Amino acid sequence: MNRVDDLLIRSRRAVLPDGERPADVSVRDGRIAAISDHAGGAPAKAAVDLGDVALLPGLVDTHVHINEPGRTEWEGFATATRAAAAGGVTTLIDMPLNSLPPTVDPEALEAKRAAAEGACAVDVGFWGGAVPGNLASLRPLHRLGVFGFKCFTSDSGVPEFPPLSHEQTRAAFREIASFGGLVIVHAEDPAALSAPSGGGYAEFLASRPASAERRAVERVVRLAAETGVRAHILHLSAADCLDVLAEARAQGVPVTAETCPHYLALTAQEAAGTAFKCCPPIRGAANRERLWQGLADGLISCVVSDHSPCTPELKRGDFATAWGGVSSLQLGLPVVWTAARERGHRLDEVVRWMSEAPAALAGVPRKGGIAVGNDADLVAFAPGETLTVDPAALHHRHPVTPYEGRTLTGAVRRTWLRGVPAGERPAGRLLAREAR
Ligand code: ZN
Repeated sequence: MNRVDDLLIRSRRAVLPDGERPADVSVRDGRIAAISDHAGGAPAKAAVDLGDVALLPGLVDTHVHINEPGRTEWEGFATATRAAAAGGVTTLIDMPLNSLPPTVDPEALEAKRAAAEGACAVDVGFWGGAVPGNLASLRPLHRLGVFGFKCFTSDSGVPEFPPLSHEQTRAAFREIASFGGLVIVHAEDPAALSAPSGGGYAEFLASRPASAERRAVERVVRLAAETGVRAHILHLSAADCLDVLAEARAQGVPVTAETCPHYLALTAQEAAGTAFKCCPPIRGAANRERLWQGLADGLISCVVSDHSPCTPELKRGDFATAWGGVSSLQLGLPVVWTAARERGHRLDEVVRWMSEAPAALAGVPRKGGIAVGNDADLVAFAPGETLTVDPAALHHRHPVTPYEGRTLTGAVRRTWLRGVPAGERPAGRLLAREAR
């Protein structure tokens, strides 16, 4: 009864589920044991007073490509999760493709878990994949604890993870709906995509128009309405899709959406090199402002990284040939906070987009908020500190970044995973969906 807590963290800016206020947060056995008024917490074995540095829940990044096993030279569990810890991300969910084998059957999930076990500095869960021919593996993967299933409507970039045809998408949605699962969709209509007519950014952008996203999102909404599956649109880039999502919501169709830091912070006009290349592409400034409006309106619920690295060799060349993917696991929080604050958004909104909503989307137990009983995954964040992005300070395997040299506002000072400083040791656990 009278046992002393392990840790007391005090901050004048604690971001709690009901907003920001001064508070003391007590930690015991890796969980949040109490939330008290500022300076009102019970004494603990160790205490940290953050002063005006904010205390946030650890971020939950549901869109990370780790590539191990099989393409570990692109990125691996040890490097990616060290970058995550340094960036205030305490939980990530790994995408089912770009590793070999892709996570499309129980054996592949076992290979993923074996590669990740003992290597992770933060907690890691897994998405499964829905590809042509693996319908019978979806329910077993669900039972084994994947958080949902990713599928593509267009080419994925790797041959071992083909897209689903319209009919295959319908069958997968039906199957996933039958056990109450979640499907997450890369939505670009292949019929509206073309090969770039040149190697510059303008040609690349023209080859992946907003209409491609819009048509695919419309199709996902229709199939979700028909099958009743819970569907989530990944990495929304085209703001033209927002009214489709608004219409779906008005009709009660369960479709949600996310966007990524690069779509909120960068524009096509400043795409200076292939570090900016990703699919769907970063678009113009007016589109970017409409994405911010979509977040403010709640039509986009999550902001997650789509951290998708490769070797520097594959990132060379021009916009027609280079690998598409932006690596930003470590930088997402300051990138989004810098841009959010310029637009008058508060820190608790950023926390909702980057921690609470992704945790709720995937149904990650005990994550996504500073609440009694949750894991004590916490971040000390100095919201007024400025930093200039130095690739040498990035922990991911290949520090290629479009943010090089940029000055950002907001710095992660410390990250705790279950009440223990994160990053130095592979203390992360492998997470599985829990039956709800
Ligand atoms: Zn991705």
